[in-house]
Amino acid sequence: MALVTIEAMLREARDGRYAVGAFNMADYASALAIVRAAQDCQAPVIVQTSVKTVRFWGCAAIVAWMKEIAGNLTVPVALHLDHCKDLDVIEQCIAAGWTSVMIDASAKPFEENLAVTRKVVEMADAAGVSVEAELGEIGGVEDDKKVSDETAHLADPDKAESFCRGLHLAAFAPAIGTAHGIYKGEPRLAFDRLEEIARRTDVPIALHGGTGLSDDVFRKCIALGCAKVNISTQIKYAFIDAFVDYHTAHKEYEPLKPLAAQIDRIRKEVAEKIELFGSAGRAAASAR
Ligand SMILES: [Zn+2]
Repeated sequence: MALVTIEAMLREARDGRYAVGAFNMADYASALAIVRAAQDCQAPVIVQTSVKTVRFWGCAAIVAWMKEIAGNLTVPVALHLDHCKDLDVIEQCIAAGWTSVMIDASAKPFEENLAVTRKVVEMADAAGVSVEAELGEIGGVEDDKKVSDETAHLADPDKAESFCRGLHLAAFAPAIGTAHGIYKGEPRLAFDRLEEIARRTDVPIALHGGTGLSDDVFRKCIALGCAKVNISTQIKYAFIDAFVDYHTAHKEYEPLKPLAAQIDRIRKEVAEKIELFGSAGRAAASAR
């Protein structure tokens, strides 16, 4: 089917107390693996791109791959732009065919973040594209942005409520103590804050920094209102490790074989996450 926005799939997920997995692709093979996993599980899925990936391949190639991959399958697939601060890139992605974008102006003061986000919502609404926005700073490393654990600050529920009021958001990413990359030690999540923000904003919550969280933590976050769970670092590891492992074991110079091993590994790990998040078997409901 054609690419869809994240709006209906996340509302459906939030109301059904499950989450849609949002997995970062690096190239055609990883995008194919992610969507095939969703098809295996009959689940809605979000394929997302970092700004780095967009710059590496260019918009046209990514959209062409995604339309071809999703067009041959029956599950709802969204193409989402992950953390983007650059309005020009957002504009280019919307024009090229992304169905969803994340504006991350979270490093700016509250009022500026809100103003920039509002501008993106206007742009996206005009094109029928959904928007995710961030408040507070999520820790760890993402693209060129490094937020040290000390300075990472959590989203304030009062501010979250006033941020989301009157703003057409498909997903809201408040900082609740998760971090991007690999956790050093046990992450401490602010579950009470997550619960309060989800209740007071009434917007499906996006959980960032998913790699390395325990199954129980995922289940708890989903029960409290997280309807989009981002998995990026785990896909990067699967992508590199599957290729290296295959070559180490076989010492062949036939590129299609390690590529196939990469696709298999990513497909398997994505399917496991889809099962854990509860979105398996929800494709039909999500496509309504
Ligand atoms: Zn993130």
